Amino acid sequence: MTDTMLDQLRRIAGAEAVRREPGGSVRVAPPSTAAVAGVMGMAHDTGWRVTVEGAATWRAEAAPADLILSTRALDDVDATPVEPGVIRVGAGAPLERVRRHTLDLGGWIPLDPPGRPDRTVGAVLSTGTDGPLRLGVGGLADQVHRLTVVTGEGRVLQSDEPAHADLVRLQLGTFGGLGVICEAALHLHELPRTDTTWVRGGSRDRLTAAAREIAERHLPVMAVELFSPALALEGEWLLAVRVLGPRDAAAIVADRLAAIGGGGWFELPPERRILLWNGAARGVTSVPVTLRLGVLAESLDETIDTVLARLGEGMLSASPASGRLRWSGVADATALRELRGELAPREIPLTLERAPWRVLRAVGHFGAYREGAGPPLEGLRERFDPRGVLVAALEGGMEP
Ligand SMILES: Cc1cc2nc3c(=O)[nH]c(=O)nc-3n(C[C@H](O)[C@H](O)[C@H](O)COP(=O)(O)OP(=O)(O)OC[C@H]3O[C@@H](n4cnc5c(N)ncnc54)[C@H](O)[C@@H]3O)c2cc1C
Repeated sequence: MTDTMLDQLRRIAGAEAVRREPGGSVRVAPPSTAAVAGVMGMAHDTGWRVTVEGAATWRAEAAPADLILSTRALDDVDATPVEPGVIRVGAGAPLERVRRHTLDLGGWIPLDPPGRPDRTVGAVLSTGTDGPLRLGVGGLADQVHRLTVVTGEGRVLQSDEPAHADLVRLQLGTFGGLGVICEAALHLHELPRTDTTWVRGGSRDRLTAAAREIAERHLPVMAVELFSPALALEGEWLLAVRVLGPRDAAAIVADRLAAIGGGGWFELPPERRILLWNGAARGVTSVPVTLRLGVLAESLDETIDTVLARLGEGMLSASPASGRLRWSGVADATALRELRGELAPREIPLTLERAPWRVLRAVGHFGAYREGAGPPLEGLRERFDPRGVLVAALEGGMEP
């Protein structure tokens, strides 16, 4: 990048927002949506390749690009709701800060993706990372009231514009490959009066049967999650049940759980509860690969068997009722492709959430069979990034 181009970038984003990196690429942290649009417009005109970054807590390594566009400066959180029950946050705001702020307002945003407190809202949405609360509150899209996105050519789109009513659905889970999420308006929920977790250890089959029974009996639970021994940091598999809500909900669940799975449940003290739900991902970044599957509850046992047979035990968690399975461990491109191939005829989408760039570029975040389906990727690229400015291994098979 020439000095003239750097000067032009500084004029758009501000002098302190632009930095040359040791490897030769340039990092820019624009302070506003308009500045992001300016930078992307310039990238589109000049043919630069851009990769988007939040707090960089997740990706194993940045995709090769001329420009790293960081959302760190888009970190404002509105002091008061923009409209009743809705809070507007910048994409670069750390999730923990948003959580504390909404607590001060007496509200709650039920986002519980695994990861560090400083992970950003924009990245959580762009990676489509929901957590165990998905069972009780729905997926990420249900939490988003409005989204503001800058496209590969620098257009600013809002999901409340009639022409872009499908923006939330299309942008979530696209890993920065179809636009830069700049701002989100999120639904505020009423603060739950109680947060209680019970756990039970045992064999995997016994615990998945207990989870099915909990679903059949319609207990008022917000999360039911199965953890493999390596993830639970225990000697056996663990099933955890979480209740958030009115105080009497906890009493009802405690009463009914006693008769499920042969009993043996115990309530976790608060510090262990926080560690289990927030710390379950602790070991995950010590291994190179994390993937998620969308699987029907009735085929969960069989799918866990397939994953373990192909990839080994690793660290596995699954939400038997909401049909989400996550695995982290060591796997190469061939093993991942074969697993995806085996699962596709069973209509189980495999999303590769994290992997070294060489694996990601070969295998892709998702293959031809994509979670949530939607229009073909080619059409989406044409609509959101016609010159292919944004670098992300969405479908794989990319050149080195
Ligand atoms: C210990 C640990 C465990 C974790 N476990 C999991 C896990 O099991 N599954 C999982 O999915 N995540 C996991 N995460 C990651 C994490 O919760 C989310 O992926 C989170 O989104 C990462 O936030 P970040 O700001 O650090 O993102 P980054 O690492 O900066 O970026 C992550 C991805 O999001 C894209 N991106 C970032 N911001 C934007 C934006 N504004 N617009 C468009 N694209 C954007 C980037 O291009 C990149 O592809 C874990 C993280 C840690 C540290």
